[in-house]
Amino acid sequence: MHEDRLLLGPGPSEPYPEAMEALTRPVLGHLDPEYLAVIREIRERLQQVFRTTNELTLPVSGTGSSGMEACFASLLEVGDTIIVGVNGYFGERLCEVARRGGAEVVRVEAPWGTPIDPADLVAAQQANPHAAVLAVVAAETSTGVRNDIAPIGEALSQTDTLLLVDAVTALGGTQLEIDAWKVDASYSASQKCLGAPPGLAPVTMGPRAVARMKARKTPVRSFYLDLGLLHEYFLASPPTYHHTASSTLAYSLNAGLGRLLEEGVEQVWARHERIGRMLQSALPELGFGLIAPDSHRLPQLTATTLPDGLDEGSLRKRLLGEYGIEVGGGLGAFAGRAWRIGMMGHAATERSVVTLTGAVRELLA
Ligand code: PLP
Repeated sequence: MHEDRLLLGPGPSEPYPEAMEALTRPVLGHLDPEYLAVIREIRERLQQVFRTTNELTLPVSGTGSSGMEACFASLLEVGDTIIVGVNGYFGERLCEVARRGGAEVVRVEAPWGTPIDPADLVAAQQANPHAAVLAVVAAETSTGVRNDIAPIGEALSQTDTLLLVDAVTALGGTQLEIDAWKVDASYSASQKCLGAPPGLAPVTMGPRAVARMKARKTPVRSFYLDLGLLHEYFLASPPTYHHTASSTLAYSLNAGLGRLLEEGVEQVWARHERIGRMLQSALPELGFGLIAPDSHRLPQLTATTLPDGLDEGSLRKRLLGEYGIEVGGGLGAFAGRAWRIGMMGHAATERSVVTLTGAVRELLA
């Protein structure tokens, strides 16, 4: 049986049809020149979407978390200090991954549902000038809050602390400028605003991060997620085996990126903005509250409280069962009392907003 779903949760989102068609192409070997040509095309396309000229730009096998782990494993050594901005579930995840990697974590917190003040992060770096990395989530998927990145990059570029940005929900959805904002490393995921299914994690690393990786005193602890080795695998001539990367997923991501670039990066941001705002103006009429403040509210992911007295879990279950529409429940501080609604990639359309709000209206009636 094939389930017919409309994916309007925090991800995966609806993939572009081109990305799904690409999945049926014949499988290629992981050293096939044709596969490596697709990887090079993906790199060029990702450079346009990340807005960077970084040579080390590639899709890591695995979901967004593999991009996160690859950046941490490749940049940190045991005992290093890392400053982490925490204002939601994924900021917490960054702390946990860094801690497991043997880093000393300095937390800079803001309440869930509010943005982190960039000045607090910069002050933490000044108090810990030896910190190897400062990591922050650009689009906090647990609360729908956008964190400001540009002022942090400018300040850190004068120091030896690298700026690592989680762009899992941000990339292709809202403005993200890796080079102009002086971001040293960033990672994302194929299944959100890029319009492809889950399975690949785009990663980009600038010259300062590459130099840091090359100057390591100890080898990267993860063989699989060593970005230096991955870069060699994709670029060495002749290519050398590292792991059996999936040509199927590469074709699919490449097709999603192709569709995105055909529309235009800034046009895609504008579409997400328009659709997010349309949803956010419709929700209060249904009794839903918006969690993020207007100034830092993401368009591609809306976290919302429910009308008084409603059980979010059973309403969400009915939305899925009766209408085939998936939205996400709250995480952490918002578990059991919020929804997370994604209007990302191919699903960022007027039709999605009207379909969702129409179904919710019926369910509430
Ligand atoms: N970071 C953020 C901001 C996310 O939203 C997610 C997933 O939703 C992740 C990291 C982890 O990505 P994945 O679930 O693809 O491994």
